[in-house]
This record gives sequence, structure tokens and C-alpha cells, in this order.
Amino acid sequence: MRTPLVAGNWKMFKGAAEAVAYAKVFRALAKDLTTVELVIAPPFTAVHGVADALRNSGIATAGQDCHWEKDGAFTGAVSAPMLKEAGAELVILGHSERRRVFGDTDADVTRKIHAAYAAGLAPIACVGETLEEREASRTFEVLDTQLKAVIDGVSGEQFAQMVIAYEPVWAIGTGRNATPEQAQEAHAHIRGRLRAWLGADAADKCQILYGGSVKPDNARAILQQPDVDGALVGGASLDPHGFFTIASAAR
Ligand code: PGA
Repeated sequence: MRTPLVAGNWKMFKGAAEAVAYAKVFRALAKDLTTVELVIAPPFTAVHGVADALRNSGIATAGQDCHWEKDGAFTGAVSAPMLKEAGAELVILGHSERRRVFGDTDADVTRKIHAAYAAGLAPIACVGETLEEREASRTFEVLDTQLKAVIDGVSGEQFAQMVIAYEPVWAIGTGRNATPEQAQEAHAHIRGRLRAWLGADAADKCQILYGGSVKPDNARAILQQPDVDGALVGGASLDPHGFFTIASAAR
């Protein structure tokens, strides 16, 4: 009942020219992949060009973050309405690199999620535990705290637009992916919490993506898990052919 969604998070890779060239190649590769929702999240400077190159392809463009204010004296920041105007339809929020490198707190993530909705962007909200937290058996507790911030004040209608990404921090960019069983366990936990807090219908419809060292050779096993509805792919999304292979595994 849930359409799979595969999103490529390019992080701080690819300038505008390279990004547009990729978008054209990927668009041609994926033209018949209509059973999977596809999203590309380039750096801010390439959002407009990529969205333009993907127009009417069914492939959506996302920002990788946004500020919670719509404008103002916030040097270096980009707002949700600016992303929307540039052609983005979604925005990744609460990524662990934002949390760890830039100090985004759960309260910041809540504010950004509401800014995204106000601008008409669907959030891809990221949650995930560190290795230390996993080893201390705190995974579910950490997920619950982050999830509460993600859904704080969000209406049922808004939640229907939200995508959640489970990204264990220890699996991101490390080449050490969660096993399919570890991913399924965390996803089932997240869905269970959503069911308890928001009801069965909201929980059953929510796309929960796995992220963390997804590669062409491990994608299928992870994506086959019943509560894994897609993937948020970093490093392996930088090559359009590899990313297409992963997206095809979600079919
Ligand atoms: P990775 O990154 O696929 O390179 O591990 C995933 C992410 O950070 O979204």
C-alpha cells in the first residue's frame, strides 16, 4: 500500500553544471521507473538547475536543509520559501550531519519542519542513534525523543506529507550498513510509535526510508523488509547509474 521512495542526498558534492548534467542522465535512465517515487537533493546552488532539468519527469528535487525563518538577517542561511521558489518539493531536515556538525537541536528540527510545511515543502525528517547510544541499548529511547520533535504540533493532514528516514549515525558514510534485520527492527519500532501517537492510518501510510551505506549490492535485501519503504542514499547516489540500480531495487 506504500509507494517506495528513493532519495539521493548529495551532501556537499556537485556544482550546478555537474548537477544538471547528472539530472539529465538520470532522467533518461529512470524514465520507465514509474513505480518508485524518486527524489534528488543537491546542494542549494544546484536546486534550481536540477529542478528545471527534471521538470515534468516525475522526479522531485529536495533541499538538504532550510532555516526556520522565511527571511531576515541570517547570513549563510536559505529559507523554505526560497527552496520552494527554486523548484524544490521536499526538504531533508534533522540529518545527523546537520545535528552534529552544525548543532541543530530537536527544537530546531521542529521549527524547520513547520517552516517547510508553511512553504509547501514536504519534510524528509531524519532520526537515528549513534554507535554509543546503540551499544548502551538506548536506540529506541533516542528514536522516540527525535520522533516526538519531528511530529510536534504537526496536524494529521500535514503528517500525511511527511517522509521519515531512519539513519543510524554509525552507518552513514562508513560502509557499515545496518543489517536488514537491524533496519527492520528500528523501522517497526518507529511505525509502532507512530501508530500509538498518531493512529493506525497515519502509521500505515507513512513512508519510512532507511539511510546509511546503502549501495547497489545491499539495497535489495534492505528494501525487501516489510517496514522499509525506501532509501535515503548518500555516497552511492553520486553516480547516476549506481543510484538508478538502487532505485530499481525498490520496485
Ligand atoms: P551514505 O549517507 O549513504 O553515504 O551512508 C546517507 C545519508 O547521510 O543520508
